[in-house]
Amino acid sequence: MSELKFKRVLLKLSGEALAPQEGSGIDPHAANEIALHVKSVVEMGADLAIVIGGGNLWRGKIGIEVGMDQATADYMGMLATVMNSLVLMDALEHIGVTTRVQTAIQMQSVAEPYIRRRALRHIEKGRVVIFAGGTGNPYFTTDTAAALRAVEMHADILIKATKVDGIYDSDPRKNPAAKKFDTIRYIDALSMQLEVMDSTAISLCMDNKMPVLVLNLWENESLKKALSGEKVGTLVIP
Ligand code: UDP
Repeated sequence: MSELKFKRVLLKLSGEALAPQEGSGIDPHAANEIALHVKSVVEMGADLAIVIGGGNLWRGKIGIEVGMDQATADYMGMLATVMNSLVLMDALEHIGVTTRVQTAIQMQSVAEPYIRRRALRHIEKGRVVIFAGGTGNPYFTTDTAAALRAVEMHADILIKATKVDGIYDSDPRKNPAAKKFDTIRYIDALSMQLEVMDSTAISLCMDNKMPVLVLNLWENESLKKALSGEKVGTLVIP
């Protein structure tokens, strides 16, 4: 096993990572591809926990825009993350990676309830723990859930997987002159209101000195490289 720079990792995936090329919903093939990336770092000896969003199925914002009560719309978003967690669980188990799903909203016939110490034990035993249901509270995001679980699991790093290879000063898909940061301070990420993570999530990481790495999971084995200490993506630091 190679030397790992980061042993315990909380991987944050957006729901969109599971969406088909066009439109919303779940493409199980997309889950299979993610599962292979996850397996590759588990085989390197990394301890992995995953938080997945729900944006491919539902976001609170969609409901709010048509006049729904925000809490109700947000609970729907949290339920969407449970479906995504199950498809990821299935894809991982199919290729021999042992997983456990824990939900922040109890639904015991579907998954274990979130119990911090039990999750830690699973991780110690080499199981990939998938945290579903966000924080379990409306008015939050799964980025914040990822920050919270990273801190609770004593992760060495929170890795946010995006389709862009790091943090830029403007959207590189819209502005070809956008500049990529190798590192950026939490406070600058906050004040520049970059779209990378919401302010609650960044603040939580900042207050708890949790490093955040933003990378493109689908590019050049970037997850493996990151865990081995190679420079990829953008690192958010104090
Ligand atoms: N959500 C919530 N509390 C949480 C996490 C998520 O209310 O702790 C809801 C919120 O409505 C959000 C939706 O679930 O819009 C889906 O999560 P998110 O937008 O973070 O998913 P992603 O953008 O990562 O796919």
